[in-house]
Amino acid sequence: MKVLVVGGGIIGCAAAYELARVGCRVTVFERATPGAEASSAAAGLLAPIDESTETSFARLALASWRLYPDVVRDLQERTGIDVEYVTRGTIYPAAAAQKRRDVGQWADIAEFGVERLEGEELHRREPYLSPKIRHAIFVKGDHWLNNQRLVLAYAQAAAAAGVEIKTGCNVSRLVVENGRARAVVTEGERVDGDAVLLAAGAWSGELMAGLGAPLRIEPRRGQMIALAHVPAVVTHCVHGEVYLAPRPSGELLIGATVERAGFQRAVTAEGIAGLLHSAFELVPALRALPIARTWCGFRPWAPDSLPVLGPWPGVDGLFVATGHFRNGILLAPITARLMTEWITGREPRLAVKDFLPGRFGQRFGA
Ligand SMILES: Cc1cc2nc3c(=O)[nH]c(=O)nc-3n(C[C@H](O)[C@H](O)[C@H](O)COP(=O)(O)OP(=O)(O)OC[C@H]3O[C@@H](n4cnc5c(N)ncnc54)[C@H](O)[C@@H]3O)c2cc1C
Repeated sequence: MKVLVVGGGIIGCAAAYELARVGCRVTVFERATPGAEASSAAAGLLAPIDESTETSFARLALASWRLYPDVVRDLQERTGIDVEYVTRGTIYPAAAAQKRRDVGQWADIAEFGVERLEGEELHRREPYLSPKIRHAIFVKGDHWLNNQRLVLAYAQAAAAAGVEIKTGCNVSRLVVENGRARAVVTEGERVDGDAVLLAAGAWSGELMAGLGAPLRIEPRRGQMIALAHVPAVVTHCVHGEVYLAPRPSGELLIGATVERAGFQRAVTAEGIAGLLHSAFELVPALRALPIARTWCGFRPWAPDSLPVLGPWPGVDGLFVATGHFRNGILLAPITARLMTEWITGREPRLAVKDFLPGRFGQRFGA
């Protein structure tokens, strides 16, 4: 079976790798380079705790989180790339922790290691935390990694498994004939296949619009800062109004804004000031650290903030994997497996109703 994957972000590369592993012939079409967009802009937090444990999103996030230790090991073995998977846990200072209403439910899942930290014990674990912070929740199971390296590792593993990755290759059109996805058109070339997987991140809607099939995916801009972090000031991830994620390779990431700014590729004074202000509230000692870099990226957002995963209704062989919004790195391994199951005609391993593309009522030619 020949599968054409549009988009070489984390979602496209992870799916391509899984598809190749079950014997599909796969081509990835990426108009820039693998991970050029949101997948490199991210902070790499693997933090599934959100609201309740009982939502379909929580089950999806948890399933992906559980795959990560094996994914990291496998990619390291196949590519030699260390993705800087850090499992030291995250500190949520009190105000932020209170917002996370149902953290108690997550505390019932032993592997998350949720505990309350107070006063001296809190400051013993993270000595530079602001002395104003006296209470926090510690989540041992909140992990993070270097997403730039992860997407590269997925791309290299995919290539080693036989995937053809066409970089600098813009897909201008998807071809549907007689109710079936047949091909993609790149500049000057039509490439035929048995299935098309649309994983073009925040740009996915544009290609569906070309088919007359409305898929409402919008960009949500996120701005980030990295401080030079040698010697390290912070050893855990600290997550208040902003998050601080220390990377073993010597940067402290501060993120992120969530803005409705279209595709304006700009880091703004207000964005950076807000991030820094909130970061200093958490750890005042950060004021002295040099700024290493700033950047922004475009999260793919669907109107209910949930991923859009599965077959497009009314078109055989057309599949969509986008809308991962703030959690595309976390959700990449499970997305890749679910898409592989669908495309190869197997039952998806999880309840997926809430993520199906047809939930907004759109159909081909609607
Ligand atoms: C600032 C920021 C922080 C984030 N932090 C986290 C985090 O801590 N944890 C987490 O889990 N998630 C995080 N995210 C979200 C995560 O980055 C995204 O959900 C994820 O990267 C989406 O992956 P993707 O492959 O769908 O999209 P992308 O990475 O954007 O990839 C889509 C690719 O498709 C290509 N493309 C588009 N159109 C075409 C075309 N016509 N032809 C060919 N190629 C095309 C693009 O060039 C791009 O490379 C963050 C995002 C941002 C912006």
